[in-house]
Amino acid sequence: MRVHQPRKVALVTGAGSGIGEATARRLASDGMAVGVLDLNADAAESVARHINEDGGLAVALAADISDKPAIEDAVAGLRGKVGPVVVLVNNAAMESFCPFEQITEDQLDRMFDVNLKGIFYTTQAVLPDMEAAGWGRIVNISAYGAQLVEGYMGHYYASKGGVISLTRSMAAEFGPRGITVNSVSPGFIDTPMARRAIEGGDLPIDPARIYGSYPIPRLGKPEEVAAACAFFISEEAAYVTAQLLGVNGGAVG
Ligand code: NAD
Repeated sequence: MRVHQPRKVALVTGAGSGIGEATARRLASDGMAVGVLDLNADAAESVARHINEDGGLAVALAADISDKPAIEDAVAGLRGKVGPVVVLVNNAAMESFCPFEQITEDQLDRMFDVNLKGIFYTTQAVLPDMEAAGWGRIVNISAYGAQLVEGYMGHYYASKGGVISLTRSMAAEFGPRGITVNSVSPGFIDTPMARRAIEGGDLPIDPARIYGSYPIPRLGKPEEVAAACAFFISEEAAYVTAQLLGVNGGAVG
């Protein structure tokens, strides 16, 4: 007998582009109501509209994840429209390339405000819903580069290394409450962020030589990262927490 389950509500940050957009679409097609949150209001609106036109249920939310009150308002709005939030994908992030000695205090503050503090604020905003449900799934997007020996993105890599450590700490605290916390570590994925780096000439060597050396010698697809998120979010992954899954074509640092 098929039992009708109410839609779970998921929040995906940075869902107006790239990996976040693919993840929002994937979770919607898996039957969840999805909060499509982005700093870029037009992008969030556009992704939510496409999901709704395709028969899914999405709510566009415009907020900067580094702005705690704005995130709390956005989560309250999502909860008010579609219900308590029990799935969170902390995906939104910024990157920049800069030699170590030229990284300014403002650059450091912005990088850590968005890439790390934003995860604290967003998670704190949804945690009461997960605790009340006694069930929750959190996926934090880190970066494969943070596991390598790479230069010119020290502030970005430090923030993404922090995401890996934070994932484990959150998993330790939240596991007894029925909430799993895992991290997906993308390699070189074909998104607007990667295109900006490739086309802006920011990378120290020819990007095709980087991904061409992988066992799967191509750029990854945002949908392939979304699929890894969907696994961690699934019911079947109930005993999987504190894990780091690379989606990187088999590159080994
Ligand atoms: P992207 O730039 O295409 O999309 C990121 C989205 O996040 C954008 O829509 C942007 O507006 C939004 N965003 C940025 N700052 C925000 C903020 N403060 N508040 C709310 N929204 C904000 O990037 P992407 O390539 O899809 O990256 C997604 C995630 O994957 C990021 O965490 C990134 O660090 C990680 N990642 C990407 C790659 C890659 O090769 N593309 C590799 C490793 C890790």
